Amino acid sequence: MKRLMTLICFATAGFAISSCDSGKKNDDFKWQIDQFADIRIMRYQIPEFEKLTPQQRVLVYYLSEAAKCGRDIIWDQNYKHNLAVRSILEALYKGYPGERNGEQWNQFMVYLKRVWFSNGIHHHYSNDKIMPGFSAGYFTQLVNQTPDSLFPSELGGKVQIIEKYLPIIFDPNVAPKRVNQEAGVDMVAQSACNYYEGVTQAEAEKFYASLANPADSTPISYGLNSKLVKENGKIVEKVWHLGGMYGKAIERIVYWLEKAATVAENDHQRQVIEKLIDYYKTGDLKKFDEYNVLWVNDLQSRVDFVNGFIENYGDPLGYKASWESVVNFRNDEATRRTQTISGNAQWFEDHSPIDDQFKKKEVKGVTAKVITVAQLGGDCYPSTPIGINLPNADWIRKVHGSKSVTMDNITYAYDQAALGNGFLEEFAWSAQEVELNKKYGYLASSLHTDLHECLGHGSGQLADGVKGDELKNYGSPLEEARADLFALYYIMDPKMVELGLIPNLDVAKVQYSNYIRNGLMTQLTRVELGKNIEQAHMRNRQLISKWCYEQGKADNVIERKERDGKVYFVVNDFEKLRQLFGQLLKEIQRIKSTGDFEAGKALVENYAVKVDFDLHKQVLDRFAKLNIAPYGGFINPRIIPVTQGDSVVDALVEYPDSYVEQMLEYSKRYSYLPLYN
Ligand code: ZN
Repeated sequence: MKRLMTLICFATAGFAISSCDSGKKNDDFKWQIDQFADIRIMRYQIPEFEKLTPQQRVLVYYLSEAAKCGRDIIWDQNYKHNLAVRSILEALYKGYPGERNGEQWNQFMVYLKRVWFSNGIHHHYSNDKIMPGFSAGYFTQLVNQTPDSLFPSELGGKVQIIEKYLPIIFDPNVAPKRVNQEAGVDMVAQSACNYYEGVTQAEAEKFYASLANPADSTPISYGLNSKLVKENGKIVEKVWHLGGMYGKAIERIVYWLEKAATVAENDHQRQVIEKLIDYYKTGDLKKFDEYNVLWVNDLQSRVDFVNGFIENYGDPLGYKASWESVVNFRNDEATRRTQTISGNAQWFEDHSPIDDQFKKKEVKGVTAKVITVAQLGGDCYPSTPIGINLPNADWIRKVHGSKSVTMDNITYAYDQAALGNGFLEEFAWSAQEVELNKKYGYLASSLHTDLHECLGHGSGQLADGVKGDELKNYGSPLEEARADLFALYYIMDPKMVELGLIPNLDVAKVQYSNYIRNGLMTQLTRVELGKNIEQAHMRNRQLISKWCYEQGKADNVIERKERDGKVYFVVNDFEKLRQLFGQLLKEIQRIKSTGDFEAGKALVENYAVKVDFDLHKQVLDRFAKLNIAPYGGFINPRIIPVTQGDSVVDALVEYPDSYVEQMLEYSKRYSYLPLYN
């Protein structure tokens, strides 16, 4: 809904596998530190942390501590046995005295790492229960040989542990799915998540329907911060607040937020933090709305954060929010880039290659705030979004607007980690292409995204009498194509250099080569063999690439080459390709502006959907050999306080490099909840 997620590195901005020449020395920084099952673990840097003021750095430190104190909450929310399972697995890891090698032990480690990654025993993305690759017998052996003292006493003895947790971990029929939204089932009963107990879906829906008042123009988010249970035959909410459910963790979050309030950048930000504390203390959702209104209006502070029960993806009914935190500060340089683009919106509109009648007389660009993430917590860790748009309450968005941010250093880390994975080398025709990509790829894809988001979608206008929904199911790939073409057309405009957005047009050439290679070939790595292309963004990319390939054939604008039986696509004439982008933009704008359904349908069906089976198979084979895990996540940098006497006066950053150690450290330092809540 409001979260921008990424599956694989090159899905990030659509296509780029690239790097940046922004002057950072990254040569010896290890971006990817672990890989297991379908997961890659990476690190991210916090560039310009040292350019914050000492007070801002201390603020980041306090907020970062608050970001980690809710870790147990998300584990418990995901499944009520998760904290107990984690404590058992970690006890085995720490205390098992036997051999730590061989297939069974290795599989145990993979399972432990996967459970850490998912904040529980269900896959973070598919929601399916993770099945261990080691045997139940081996588990029993590990438990029996590990010293008793390492297991929490709440679990009883080893006999009880084995009896109770064997089915929880090994039986595929016990809690098979964290969230089940299948039509026709009782979604509450069929979902393992811990947001309801003893109530049916119908009872929960009835309960919340009775609270809502249709005449209320500023409704609170009913049910957002509580577990719904039946006590003595009565349905009640166990509210998550200080003194209530999850109170022990919330107490620590509040402790750090109170410190943060003392070093806030300004009065407004202090009010934001104090209102959040007030909400945590009372659990009053009215206060949460007041907090959100204050937060969305804080546009001055450099340091910013999310901390709370925010997103409802984890509840099949969509009432309950998982706990998460993101601490960040504005990336001034990148934000200036989006400001420059938006500030020149009218120039771009006036010079667009579309028919004059479809140009907007007055156009306003959107400025996206680009942020640098300093710490991830709860549901945003280790698997993180790459952009956020908050708050979620519709009435607040309507009346007060929302904050839309992109997480530049996370995208950058994905990009850097991808550099070493051999992907580009496999699919790019020449070493020169790879080199230019390393130099300009990151800048090119960032700029493309900015042009697409800040200008592309907002450009152009409909003819009189056209409503905008005429293109039906073809509307969304065509709309994405329009925004992409706007970006592609302009990224090679000399105006880009003039505005100081790129040093030279090589940046655009990198983008053109990447776009075509991806659209004609590499994006097929995400499609199952034998299937057509379904996803709107992917349809748009193939549409553009294939159309330009076909239209430019006479002039050999894009060439299909082969070497050692492998296919490559090479751009021969960048200027002509730009003209083709312009022509297609003009046509798609006409289709949209006039609502020409038949022409839109023909474009999509002829160019965007079908896949060449042999090429697809080849691409999948080549990709499989690279052994790139589809999902990625991050460990956090460590924010270290600098003290003078009793007070924290500054903070430093360190970049740890062990996934296992960070997980164990967090379990040791930030476990505030009982195993069962
Ligand atoms: Zn778009």
